[in-house]
Amino acid sequence: MSLAEILDENLAHVLDGTGAEDPQGEPIEYWWNSLGQGSGSFVLVDSRWKLSGYDEGTVDVLVNASRTEIGRTIRAAILNVNAGDGSLLEERVAPLPAAISSTAIRASFPWRRDDQLSLPTGSDEQTMGKVAYGKTYVTCDGADIRLSFTVSKTELQHNEHGDAWVCGMAVQEHISRPSRSGPRHRGTVASIVPVFRDGEIDIGYRVPSVASLRGKRIAVVGLGALGSPAAVELARNGCTSLHLMDDDVVEPGNAIRWELGASSWGTKKQDALKRFIEREYPWTSVLAVPHRIGLPTGDRDRLNELLDSVDLVVDASAAPGVSYLLGDICRERGLSLISVFASPNLHGGAVVFHHPESGCPVCMAHANETPEGKPGHIPYPNGMNDESTLVQPPGCSELTFTGASFDLKELSLETVRMAVDVLSSPDEWTVSEVRTVNLHNVKRRMPPSWRIDPLERHPDCGCRS
Ligand SMILES: [Zn+2]
Repeated sequence: MSLAEILDENLAHVLDGTGAEDPQGEPIEYWWNSLGQGSGSFVLVDSRWKLSGYDEGTVDVLVNASRTEIGRTIRAAILNVNAGDGSLLEERVAPLPAAISSTAIRASFPWRRDDQLSLPTGSDEQTMGKVAYGKTYVTCDGADIRLSFTVSKTELQHNEHGDAWVCGMAVQEHISRPSRSGPRHRGTVASIVPVFRDGEIDIGYRVPSVASLRGKRIAVVGLGALGSPAAVELARNGCTSLHLMDDDVVEPGNAIRWELGASSWGTKKQDALKRFIEREYPWTSVLAVPHRIGLPTGDRDRLNELLDSVDLVVDASAAPGVSYLLGDICRERGLSLISVFASPNLHGGAVVFHHPESGCPVCMAHANETPEGKPGHIPYPNGMNDESTLVQPPGCSELTFTGASFDLKELSLETVRMAVDVLSSPDEWTVSEVRTVNLHNVKRRMPPSWRIDPLERHPDCGCRS
């Protein structure tokens, strides 16, 4: 297009506010937030809050202030929004991230409505004066910090209006040596603390399909190369509660196929994952159950603890004996079980859904042994009976496989997808199902190739009785 054509087609629309428009809102807080972004600072609000009809009041805020190499960092969350007369209008229901809940100070700051708030024109004194207006301050980490909040009606989504939040901050750093007349201060510096939305609907907007994990409790047995990525992925997608069982220790050698790195060395796997998940995904709580299934005592008690009130069990032990045991227990309790394993040389693997009234892990073994061409036959994943590539690393008590994390993760991800599907539409999952993947055809690696087989109860299996 020539400039003349562009002007001819669009200038009238720009001047009149007409013509085709992208179907999206332009919330004013986006432009204000951009003045403070990248500093590590934020304050959390909830999009569910409705403040229309109110013009001012106070907010109760949990503030965590620290000094970092990039300057003053503020991490805060609004706990309550109060009207001018002090009555409670809205309150936070989302769990607090660890970055705020540790060593935070609770304080009250003003909010006011300004539906005429314009876009920021820069970070000059006049612009900041519109939103950094408060008098109340908290003293923390060697500074007086004043926060003030401006609420402004804005288009949050296309033709959907709601309240934008803008947080102004004024910081007065203390000078370390007080003079005779008391503490000395540097000049006040005003800036913007970006406002982030972390209410339940805010988190759910991006991936509505995982809403089925909200409120769910999932047990994961075995937190190795298959179980650890699955556990973290379930937490990232909003699973409310995870019960994690293992008793192995993270070492430099096994961490190459593990979800977390050097910060976990020397820690029990279940404890390292609990610490990581609860720090990074505040919506998820973790029960760490330290146990190795098959010890002479303790199985019954530990498994009762693990399976208490769970909605689904994931078996990532990659040990047939454990799978058979979990198959029996889940059938008794009417629980769905997902078993995941890889072949020793990682040329393939499988993710298997076991309905409590359909094919069990022993039925699966029968199906694998049924000759090809006979009804009920399900092929082994490639390399299932090839143990020639197992190695014994120095200092390790057992042979281990030589697969890489990026291949194993293929199986972990399918496990999580299946868990989401089973919990979303349980009525469609009444027959057990084997999803087999092949990653290698003996000559060379190939892109993951999946097949799906139903797994009916086998006539010879004891699960029928
Ligand atoms: Zn069976």
